[in-house]
Amino acid sequence: MQDTIELIILIPEPVPLPIAQEASVEIERRLAARDIELLKQHKVIEIKPDTKKAIIEAKDPLGYDLFVGVPIHKTPQVVRESVLGQHGWIPVNKVNLETSLENVYAVGDVTKIPVGKFAVPKAGAFAETGARVVVNDILNKIYSENNPVKFEGMGSCYLEFGAGQVAKLNANFLGKAQPEVRLDGPSAEFRPDKQNFEKDRIAKWFK
Ligand SMILES: Cc1cc2nc3c(=O)[nH]c(=O)nc-3n(C[C@H](O)[C@H](O)[C@H](O)COP(=O)(O)OP(=O)(O)OC[C@H]3O[C@@H](n4cnc5c(N)ncnc54)[C@H](O)[C@@H]3O)c2cc1C
Repeated sequence: MQDTIELIILIPEPVPLPIAQEASVEIERRLAARDIELLKQHKVIEIKPDTKKAIIEAKDPLGYDLFVGVPIHKTPQVVRESVLGQHGWIPVNKVNLETSLENVYAVGDVTKIPVGKFAVPKAGAFAETGARVVVNDILNKIYSENNPVKFEGMGSCYLEFGAGQVAKLNANFLGKAQPEVRLDGPSAEFRPDKQNFEKDRIAKWFK
């Protein structure tokens, strides 16, 4: 299809992954090599399905045949209205993810965990590792054990490049002196890795 379609990606940020400059450069390079246009600092504020136009903040509208968009990211109402959800997101203790209320924890997208001027990104990988930390912290309390727990903001995401090529984005936001994000691949080697990752989760979560 690549010769017969025009594919454009719009992002509101100045780079694909603001917290990972090197990986951003690599992603941009790979998109350009595939003639996929990346429009940075293009914030879509409205879709007009009648005229098939995307309205972009402070920029000209963009026509489309097929629009695929990620909805605005926000916390559920129940969180926004609770005492925990200051400004929408829930601040937590960085180490064990406990909220301002004792024995109440928050994991995943609802949390706000600062990393310098950024925050730990909203990704399933961090929701999963965060959940493990919380479970261990609760077990420590119940059994008065002292197995140290520490949320490191560590996780991996896969990026599909087509034709069996997969890249792996490895992140460790809090475990080291500086946040580390590395893009490995794309290569055929990460294909089985990604498939096993998927199989593992399906087996565990959808028995
Ligand atoms: C297009 C896209 C691609 C992504 N790709 C990746 C990726 O490759 N790798 C990765 O790691 N992450 C990825 N993510 C992010 C990932 O999906 C989220 O970070 C992850 O799902 C967060 O998990 P969560 O459990 O915190 O929240 P959610 O998955 O949002 O779960 C919250 C749940 O709470 C429920 N809920 C809300 N309000 C209430 C209520 N009042 N009562 C009861 N239930 C309620 C919701 O229905 C929902 O099921 C992607 C996200 C998007 C949008």
